[in-house]
Amino acid sequence: MQCQKATVQMNGLCNVKKVADLCSVNGFSEAALDKKKHNKPDEVTLSTMEEAYSTILRGLGENTERQGLKSTPGRAARAMQFFTKGYRETVQDVLNDAVFDEDHDEMVIVKDIEMFSLCEHHLVPFFGKVHIGYLPNQKIVGLSKLARVVEMYSRRLQVQERLTKQIAIAIVEALKPAGVAVIVEAEHMCMVMRGVQKKNSRTITSAMLGVFREDPKTREEFLSLIKS
Ligand SMILES: [Zn+2]
Repeated sequence: MQCQKATVQMNGLCNVKKVADLCSVNGFSEAALDKKKHNKPDEVTLSTMEEAYSTILRGLGENTERQGLKSTPGRAARAMQFFTKGYRETVQDVLNDAVFDEDHDEMVIVKDIEMFSLCEHHLVPFFGKVHIGYLPNQKIVGLSKLARVVEMYSRRLQVQERLTKQIAIAIVEALKPAGVAVIVEAEHMCMVMRGVQKKNSRTITSAMLGVFREDPKTREEFLSLIKS
């Protein structure tokens, strides 16, 4: 097992430096894999969730038998399974057959990738955009797969900081690039609808690895390209 160290910096609200130990297993780190691939949704899970949603409705003082609510627990359970479908995928599922050898050493950027996720503290949405850049080192990945990686990690219960880091680490592990940059800009409904109720606040997090971290020029190039 081969281990390497990467430093992940979070900007925005928290200015904390974190060091992630990336232990490579078949080219993918355990951190990126989140190996506990959850079981496929089955009828047992679905009915447990349905019952739970009925309980919540009764807790609100609602009549679960009235017409508009009769099918709500089932619909809500299926919706929640969709919102969290990323638990039933791994990074290998998404990237394995889409990594290609290519002698390309210019920056690759995919920006404005739509992202919808659920905050793990309140189970309410946060959503926004993800910008990804990497500097290849003999390997590239199908561009749509970067959006699939975003989709996989965002369709889980998340905090924005971890989401940002997981996307960056997954790309590092799959491509071993010279560097990776990930920026996530999001609005959190738990801030907008409750708590401080700041309607227009956006949270921005970034993970800069390799040359994007070490070389200010590369970082600047990335930042100006995602703004253009
Ligand atoms: Zn929240």
